[in-house]
Amino acid sequence: MGETSRVLPPDLRVEYPRAARAAGCYLYDDQGREYLDGCSSAIAVNVGHGNPEILDAIRAQLDTITYCYRTQFANEPAERLAAELVRLAPGDLSHVQFTNSGSEGTEAAIRLALQYWQEVGRPERRLVVSRDVSYHGATLGALAVSGHEARRRPLAALLPDLPRAPRADCHRCPFGLTRDTCALDCASAVEQTILAAGPGNVAAFIMEPVVGAAGGAVPAPPGYLTAVAEICRRHDVLLIADEVMTGLGRTGRWFGVDAESVAPDLLVLGKGMSAGYLPIGAVLVDARIHAAIHDGSGTSALGHTYSANPLAAASAAAVVDFLVRYDVPARAARAGDRLRRGLAAVLAARGVAADVRGAGLLLGVDLTPHDPDRDHGVTAAALTAAAFEERLLIYPAGTDAVPRAVIVAPPLTITDAELDQLVDRFAAA
Ligand code: PLP
Repeated sequence: MGETSRVLPPDLRVEYPRAARAAGCYLYDDQGREYLDGCSSAIAVNVGHGNPEILDAIRAQLDTITYCYRTQFANEPAERLAAELVRLAPGDLSHVQFTNSGSEGTEAAIRLALQYWQEVGRPERRLVVSRDVSYHGATLGALAVSGHEARRRPLAALLPDLPRAPRADCHRCPFGLTRDTCALDCASAVEQTILAAGPGNVAAFIMEPVVGAAGGAVPAPPGYLTAVAEICRRHDVLLIADEVMTGLGRTGRWFGVDAESVAPDLLVLGKGMSAGYLPIGAVLVDARIHAAIHDGSGTSALGHTYSANPLAAASAAAVVDFLVRYDVPARAARAGDRLRRGLAAVLAARGVAADVRGAGLLLGVDLTPHDPDRDHGVTAAALTAAAFEERLLIYPAGTDAVPRAVIVAPPLTITDAELDQLVDRFAAA
């Protein structure tokens, strides 16, 4: 074993090798060992590592201009990227605010929602409703609306006590119901939470269309997205779609909310947009929110030094262009079906009682059997470590409420042969 560094959670008790280079779906350490990236690193590297088209766009931008300040100059890559995001986005989202990460994006969405109500003379609407078992980022505001107990714990005493609705999960229904009997109790629970807080006090409801890091790729139950959009409309609550993980093709559609053609009022992007190249995120808003802020105080106070810088924008514009030209969301849908079948077959062949769920190439393997008598004792940490030994990178997910799931989410560019190799290594793990 060569030189190692301990940079990941100590509870995994694994010494991590030093990354040296990466290409396509593979990373290599400084000893030349190859690892199959079964989780797109942090579910970010959607167009593969070292994608020549993205690298060429970054190099070309390096030769022209890498930075200018957004209050002094507009820049072409940022304008091109914004126009393309608006073209692809669901509903009437017409204005883009760039950020430098997903957390900054959800933070910006929360602040824009609060400012909107202030500008239209309803400052008492200042609560943001979120859900149990959710993750929206690491900044204080984003963490305040996250239902991720492990991440909240170190700062728990400092976080405001905001209303949270129960999670929506057909695999482990928080109400103990089946799909035949539920009639979407999880959506009514969102309405109950809004009513309990007093609808006149609620600024926004924030949700991930497919719950990522906190739950382990839990898709919204059928009908849920439509139902909560309708509930938000009924109570004049802004709907924030956190598509940091799901946005731009990951779920086999351009956006997670496209599963039910829902139009959110604000939509946040991050990982899928940077695709692991240069840090960037965005929040998209509709014309009504933009106009209220623009015609009101005229400033959103969200600009950061590096927001909309031409280098990161050129990189993200190349990512989006690649996704469009190769119809990557549709490819992700097909590859997701193949991967889901492959993983389910491995579990069935070994008699392991575990669910495979998710959307597109955002899959979760839930390791907690529904029948306690069939408990195989495998934890997410142990499976992640075993996969690592097989040179397969997967991602442990879950919180105290849903403790035993791993996310399998390779780059959207993965080939069928690489998918088969992933399944083989998973089986070995
Ligand atoms: N929102 C969601 C749904 C995420 O999955 C994440 C990251 O895991 C974030 C927000 C935070 O993004 P970042 O880590 O880029 O700040």
